[in-house]
Amino acid sequence: MVTDPVPRRKDLRQVYQESDRLADLDLPPDGRLPEAARAIEQAMETGDIEAVRQACTEFLKRAARFYKVKAPEIEVLEARPLRVREGWALELFGDYHPETKRIRVWMRTAVRRRITSFGTFLSTLCHEFCHHLDFERYGFPESYHTRGFYERAGALYHHARATARKRLYWNRMPAGRWRIDWQKTRKGG
Ligand SMILES: [Zn+2]
Repeated sequence: MVTDPVPRRKDLRQVYQESDRLADLDLPPDGRLPEAARAIEQAMETGDIEAVRQACTEFLKRAARFYKVKAPEIEVLEARPLRVREGWALELFGDYHPETKRIRVWMRTAVRRRITSFGTFLSTLCHEFCHHLDFERYGFPESYHTRGFYERAGALYHHARATARKRLYWNRMPAGRWRIDWQKTRKGG
């Protein structure tokens, strides 16, 4: 995981910095999201794509209600096409388009058509939903992959999966970018 390049335009740079600083995400105080996530996991086990889509719709509906935003559209697709327009970043298992407010997630990888693991799938869904929040909740004109963005997406994912949230550790790269230090993050410092 690497953060996006810092934009050159001053106004966008401010958006970027704001996103970077915003490392916390408030979470529902109850089990509504973990419950909806478990339903996604069960639907994935059956391999029924329509059941997965319905479970994702319910998850997003609950999340959107909590964050007081309109629920994004969801499209669950079998295999990721080999060439897909990336938008602003490389998204391996899903994407989000701010104009249509639509999330797409793929259940299988393009080349080997392996089924995506539930953890990866849910993490992708939370990641794309956080792009939605950037526009709809925070009013950002762009959604950047900043350290704050990854923190927020991670917070939502760990809450939904009922696993302990890990603090993310970063290594500085040239030009103001950061790369996650997985070893340190896994060890907890
Ligand atoms: Zn993204």
